[in-house]
This record gives sequence, structure tokens and C-alpha cells, in this order.
Amino acid sequence: MKRLLLRIDLSNRTHDIEEIPNEIIKKYVGGRGLGAYLLYRFVPPKANPLGEENHLIFTAGPANGTGMYYSSKVNINTKSPLTGIYLYAISSGIVAHTMRQAGFWAIDVRGIAESPTYLAIDNHQVQFKDASALWGLETAEAQKRMLEDLSLAKAATVGIGPAGEHLNPYAALFTDGALYRCFGRGGGGAVMGSKNLKGMVISGDSHVKAVDEEKLKEVNREVARLLKTEFKGWAESWRRYETCSDLESMNELGMLPTRNWQTGQFEGWQGIDKSTTPMGWPEKGRACGPYCPTPGCREVEVKDGPYQGAHSDIEWETVYGFGTSCGVDKMEAVIAAGQICDEYGVDTITAGVTIGFAMECFEKGLIHEKDT
Ligand code: SF4
Repeated sequence: MKRLLLRIDLSNRTHDIEEIPNEIIKKYVGGRGLGAYLLYRFVPPKANPLGEENHLIFTAGPANGTGMYYSSKVNINTKSPLTGIYLYAISSGIVAHTMRQAGFWAIDVRGIAESPTYLAIDNHQVQFKDASALWGLETAEAQKRMLEDLSLAKAATVGIGPAGEHLNPYAALFTDGALYRCFGRGGGGAVMGSKNLKGMVISGDSHVKAVDEEKLKEVNREVARLLKTEFKGWAESWRRYETCSDLESMNELGMLPTRNWQTGQFEGWQGIDKSTTPMGWPEKGRACGPYCPTPGCREVEVKDGPYQGAHSDIEWETVYGFGTSCGVDKMEAVIAAGQICDEYGVDTITAGVTIGFAMECFEKGLIHEKDT
């Protein structure tokens, strides 16, 4: 089986496909290792993260597409506009799975498109599509419109929102449309925006075979057994609360990042805890990617009050970013903030902790009303 890298040049509107040598796959284990290798190979040390020389590299790993449990992760690899150094960020969803079905372990995007563009990748075919009408749209709407434009009912999608277009250094890259899966950290969305690239649609129809299919089934059976026995308690808690299960214990241990880390305990933690949320915690979670035996993602909607109608997928990162870090004890407000970040295409962690930092600066007189 060939391991292929799709190389796309936005400046020249060209693409080519190269084979990734087996020794590279073996040496740099998984999508993260492969991405770091490719970034090192392609991006010169002094490259401007928002300039033509930077690359945005999507990588999958050997498990993606094979049916292995929990193989939903995909990586982006680039030079970060936030830190100026190597960035890798991951998202769950169907992107890596579909990349493998299209025949690729990696998709490397370089250059800058002359005008707003989105990429339509169908197996080994690549089209450069006009995205002028999509520029300015929120992340999920943009992905939906790309699918409509291509008359596709379903495919893997990636998109940025206005934050990425405006080169916000912590703009994120979103995937899987209204599920708002996200490559959160480090400004990958701004790198995409700097390339005049609004998003990508990927579809593929090849069957991805594991090297040893019987062994893979055996491993999956063992994982399923463990989730019913030794890890039953963890599995039940994860399906019910996923990353939001530990607020109380973290508070007790003094590890809850509160008011820009001024303290590790938050007196208002119950206002943003899953068990006390006034909207009620949805009973059933959903899988955000293929082959997940513990589906725990869930969207929570505010039913009444000043934030009525706000909805977002509540994760621990958003709860501490906009909750404890900012001293906010209302789940409804956290949900509304999460929705704004999802739609504009911003990383909720960085947005929340930056606001928490600014709040402390304000309290200490380092910034004033005119700065806000
Ligand atoms: S639902 Fe949760 S456990 Fe399942 S793939 Fe998504 S993030 Fe992972």
C-alpha cells in the first residue's frame, strides 16, 4: 500500500502527489510525527507564519480509517502566528478517516491564493473553487455552503470563520460543520486565512485496510471488554459527562484555574458544573468521530433568561476558560461565549484565559476603561 502526500500550491493553483517513503512513516510515528517531519522539511526557519513560505499540513496516522476504536484524530502542523514556533493541533471528527479514504496520509497546502478560495478534494482530484461568497461567513455555515456548492450530501469539511480571515493569532480551524470540532490552539485558522483559503471539502471512496485486520479486531474486542469491566466506571462517567466530569474534585484539590490563576479554587464552581446546570445535562452523548465506543459529546441549549437560545458543545476547556478563569459562575454565559467562539472561529481556551488575564490587569490598574 502506498502512503501518499498530496501537495497543493495555492499561488500557482497546481497540485501533485508524492509517495512518502516507508522509512519516514516508520521513523516519525503517527500523524503527529509525520507532520513535524514534513513541516521541518518544507518550512524555512525564518518563514513568516502568515506569509507565503509557511505551510499548513494536515496529517493522518496509521490507525485512521481502519476501524480502530478512538481513531478519530487528525493533526494540523504549521508555524504558529501566536508563538512563532512549531504548532501541532488536533481535532476529532471524520477528516483523517476521509483523507485515508481519499488515499492520503498527508495534505500539504502552501502559497497564497489570489482571491478567496476553497479546495474540493475528491480522491486524487483537486479543484480550486471560488470562495468570495463564503468570505465573512461563520465556520459551520461556510462548510455547509461548500457542500451545497458541490452538491454533496456528506463529506469531510474544514473551515475558518471571520477570526481566521482577520488573522487573529488564536483563530482556530473548525471541522465537521455544525458539530464544531476544532483544531483549537496556536492560530491555525489565521494561517489558513493568510492563504486566502476559506476551507476544504474532502471525499474519498477507497477501503482502508489495516495491515493485520484480525489483530485489529482482537484489539477492539479487548478495548470493548475493558470498557465493560476494569474501566466500566470511567466509561460510564465519560459517556455521561466527558471532559466535564472533574470540576468538583479539581476544586477540592485546589487545581481549578480561577481568575487568571490567582487561586486554584472557585467559590462559584457549582454554577458551571454539569450536575447543577439549570438547563439539565443531556442524557445521551454522541460520537464526534468514527469508531468511538464512549460517545460523550453533547450540545447544551439555554432554554430561557438573557442567554435564551444560546447553544454550544460544552467541554472542560470552555468551562474553565470562560467560567473559572473569568470568575463567571453561570453556565448559560459560558455556553453563549462558547457559541460565539465556535461561530467566529476562535479557540475558546485562549479567548477565555486572555479575557481572564485582562480582567486581572484591569483590577490591578494596569489597563483602564479606555483600553477595553
Ligand atoms: S465522542 Fe469523545 S471519546 Fe468519542 S471520539 Fe469524540 S472526543 Fe473521543
